[in-house]
Amino acid sequence: MEVYFVKGMSNSYITSDGVLIDAGVKLNDVVKVAEQHGIKIRYLFITHYHVDHIRYAADIAKALGCAVVAPELDSDVVEGRSRPPGGLAGLLHSLMRVKPVKADVKVKDGDEVEGYRALAAPGHTPGSTAYVKEGAMFSGDAVLSSNGRPVLPPKRYNFDQHRAEESFRKLLDLKPKVIYPGHGTPIKFMP
Ligand SMILES: [Zn+2]
Repeated sequence: MEVYFVKGMSNSYITSDGVLIDAGVKLNDVVKVAEQHGIKIRYLFITHYHVDHIRYAADIAKALGCAVVAPELDSDVVEGRSRPPGGLAGLLHSLMRVKPVKADVKVKDGDEVEGYRALAAPGHTPGSTAYVKEGAMFSGDAVLSSNGRPVLPPKRYNFDQHRAEESFRKLLDLKPKVIYPGHGTPIKFMP
């Protein structure tokens, strides 16, 4: 499986098997990278409800006709039934007028979609989820990268700091080959 990077408000990735991870990137930028590599995007996986990861989800899903996969516990916000709890995240969400998008598949811990396993990694948001396939882990903001080293987001961005720390350790303990984080460069581990 090949993984291609798309730059936006957060990192998005397009995989050679037709999956787009996160949607903080504009439709045009997604289409450009997908076309460059001859990829038809069939799925959009959402790691969590923060605006910089779902800003363009509705536009992308509509234009590309891809199925939207989102964490069940974050789906009320993703689908527009509620705002993120917490001052800053809620405020940004309203200010940026995020368009809700329907989650065609709502995943829980251990669910599998298209060969990707969903791993609950709560803490950053209640439903934060990592998606793993063939040693590649798409961690959203549950594990970020600072110059290729794993770090947590600053405390003020985490819904529940204690659980965020637990999830961070859990994901690293799974010993992925590469982590593709929501922000920062990929984290590569020695075999
Ligand atoms: Zn986030």
